[in-house]
This record gives sequence, structure tokens and C-alpha cells, in this order.
Amino acid sequence: MLADTIAAVATPPGEGGIGIVRMSGNSAIAVAEKIFQPRRGLKLSDSPSHTLRLGYIIDPDTGETVDEVLASIMRAPHSYTAEDVVEINCHGGSLATARVLQLVLRHGARLAEPGEFTRRAFLNGRLDLAQAEAVLDVIKAKSSRGLAAAVLQLQGRLSRKIDKISEWINGALAAIEASLDFPDEVGEVGTEELKGLEEAREEIKGLLVTWEEGRLVNEGLKIAIVGRPNVGKSSLLNALLNQERAIVSHIPGTTRDTIEETLLLGGYSCRLIDTAGLRETADALESIGVARTRQAINEADLILMVVDLSTGILPEDRLIFEEIAGRDKNVIIVGNKIDMVKEKIKDRFSFFEGYPQVKVSAKEGIGLDELATKVREIVLGGRVGTRNDDILIIRARHRDALEKCLEHLEAAITAWKRGVPTDLVAVDLWAARDYLGEITGTTAREDLIDRIFSDFCIGK
Ligand code: GDP
Repeated sequence: MLADTIAAVATPPGEGGIGIVRMSGNSAIAVAEKIFQPRRGLKLSDSPSHTLRLGYIIDPDTGETVDEVLASIMRAPHSYTAEDVVEINCHGGSLATARVLQLVLRHGARLAEPGEFTRRAFLNGRLDLAQAEAVLDVIKAKSSRGLAAAVLQLQGRLSRKIDKISEWINGALAAIEASLDFPDEVGEVGTEELKGLEEAREEIKGLLVTWEEGRLVNEGLKIAIVGRPNVGKSSLLNALLNQERAIVSHIPGTTRDTIEETLLLGGYSCRLIDTAGLRETADALESIGVARTRQAINEADLILMVVDLSTGILPEDRLIFEEIAGRDKNVIIVGNKIDMVKEKIKDRFSFFEGYPQVKVSAKEGIGLDELATKVREIVLGGRVGTRNDDILIIRARHRDALEKCLEHLEAAITAWKRGVPTDLVAVDLWAARDYLGEITGTTAREDLIDRIFSDFCIGK
């Protein structure tokens, strides 16, 4: 166990119901005791594990009462970090927590580094690396699907699957090693081990196909809404935002600028880029808008091209469409203002034949569900979406390690089938096993671990 005691404010800055100062390490309870006076009853150091004590934080140097708090103690190894942990629940607001933090730092704790609590949980064997990463993914989840995937990973579902795959590889390695050590006693390394490796290969492939969805779940889908002025792009954006009522962030620009918003569409977190009208123009500001629109198209995973059904397709629409059509991009043609169109409009869309189309009214809220369904269909690209209880690969790091593992596994299987000497096969199997170990952390290097925890906030 690591000797020193770390401390940090674990709640976000600003005003709130409570603010928590968290400590972990050998002297966490002793440090807390120096500044905590229980209102009545046992001293903190005599209190049983997993209890809450009401009391006061008193500055031992001045005798000043800093706050009335609840202190919880969790003794090693039954805590988040597997060390002694004390959490002091102050009244929310940055001053009380800052003062309490100052006091614990003055009395023997040191300020924690980003992610250091979770890093200790990892180093003390409470969590493996994939679970530690999942802690961050839970905190940062932007959609319910993303949250579900992260929670499964936190519970160790991905790790167990990785362990199972490792066991197949280990089984084959053990058989190879035994046959090399005792060639007379152990017979041919056989079909059973090979079958195990083939199962391992299928499991890895099964995990890898979830990555495309996992990436979108994790990073969010970038959607550009394009169209000439007045077709209803802003209205569509607002209608979608109103419908979902799940705005996560809001970065308004000027009216000619791009506005980026985040919402949930078809179960995915989507970053919507509302762009200024795209057309050739002499107006300098407008041309910036055009440049941005082109950039938005470049960056987008999906483009919603809005046209006005009440006017039909104009030359400007064609110009914009040409901007999109030449590229390998997912596009949905959104025919807006369906509420204004009484007569048959079948032919209005003929220009966009072959592209998925939805008719909506941003004003009346018509067709928005259908649009969400189309988005989902396109994101999944014809695949069946995973369920909330399916494991998703949501980190590029895991995808990379699985791909490398798969390469070596394929090489080993091919070599084995060709009758290549098993000690050579073993080299690929060791490599495959090491790549799996990078995911759960058994073979992860220090710099990788540093990088992972540096993404965390202080106090987690
Ligand atoms: P933008 O320039 O493409 O962003 O277009 P706006 O969202 O500003 O909309 C242009 C005009 O069309 C506004 O007067 C809107 O009220 C109107 N509008 C937008 N969507 C609809 C719709 O679905 N039906 C009707 N009838 N009017 C709409």
C-alpha cells in the first residue's frame, strides 16, 4: 500500500448542496481527527468502518469553527482505493471546501494528482485498468447508451470477457510449453487447443464490430445541418432541441456563425452544427460562413441537407447539394415545411434520388421521430443495434489492442495449421496475450497508465 495520504475536493467548484473533501491513505483518519470534533460520541479513530459522524471542522491553530460537517470513514481494504478513506461532507460552496482542504493539507495530507484516487484503486487491485477507464467514461457519458456501456465495463464485464479470451490463449501456450519441456510424456499439441484459439478469435471479432457504434456512443455523432437561407435550418435545430429536451452544452455563435449544440437523437449524443447559408457570395462575412459550412461538411459524420418543400428545389439547393454529393458522406435529405404543402410533392425530391429522405415540419414538429429513426439506421449502417446489456468497445485504446491481438492470433492459427513448429507459434501467442493484458492493465506500461489517469479530474 502507498504510504502518503492524498486529499482533494471531490465535488465540482461552485455552489451546491454539499461539497466533499476526500482523503485516502494510511494517515487519512489521523489527519481528519486533528481537525474534526464529533458533536457527541466516539472519536473518529474509534468509529467503525462505513459510518457517518456529525461534527465540526475546527482549525486547531485558531480554534475557529470552519463548518458543520458529516465525516464518513471507510477503512482499508473496503474502500474505493482499498486504503483508509475519509470523506468530509461540507456545506456546498467553494469556500468551506477550500478551507477544509487547506486544513488537511496543513496537517499531513498532500494534494492529490488528477485521477490519483482511481489510480490507487487500480494499483491496489480494486479495479483493473479497463474498469478504471470506465469510471471516467461514466462521469463523461453523454447518452444513456454511453452510460450503460460504461457501467457494464465498470462492473467488469469487458474484463471478464478479456480474461476468458486470455484463458484460451494461455491454454494453448501451456500445452505448447509442456510439449516442449516433456516431449515424450505429452503427445501432439492438438485440435482442442486450436479450437480454443479459434473461439478466442471469434470473440475478439465480436468485440471489434461493436467499436463503430461504441465510438459514436462515446464521442457523439457530429451532424451538420446545411441548406440555403430560409429553408428552416435554425427552426429544425430548435425543434430537435425542444423535442429532446436534453441539451448538454450550448455554444452560441453569431447568427452568421456556426452554432454547435448537443442533443440526443435516435439514442445517440449528437453535436449539431447549424451553419450559415452556403452559397457563392461577395459578402466577406457570409463567405466565412461558406467556408465554415464546407468545413462542417468535412467534419460531419452525417449531413442533414434541408430543403424547403413549399418552394421546391432552387438552383441554390443544387449548388449546395453538389458540395455534398461528391463526397463519401452520410446524408439525409430533410424536406421541411411539409405543413405548407397541400398538393402532391412526390416529384420535389426526385432530384435527390437514391438518398434517404424525410419530410418534416420544424414548425409543427411533424416527422421528427422519423428523422431520429433514420439517423439511427444510418449510424448503424444496416447492423442491428446493440442492447443496453451488450458490451461495447468505447475506447480507441481497446480497439487498437484488440486489433493487434487479433493479428497475432490469426498468425498463430495459420502457422499452427501449416504445421509450423509450436515454439514459433508461441511467439505470436505471447504477443496476443500481452495485447489483451494492455486492456486490463496486467501488461500495461507506466507511461500508458500515466496517460490514462491524466485525463481524470483531481478528486476522482
Ligand atoms: P434558416 O435560414 O434555414 O435557418 O431558416 P429559419 O429556421 O430561420 O426559417 C426561415 C423561415 O421559415 C422562418 O420564418 C420560419 O418560421 C419558417 N419555417 C421554418 N420551418 C418551417 C416549417 O416547418 N413550416 C413553416 N410553415 N415555416 C417554417
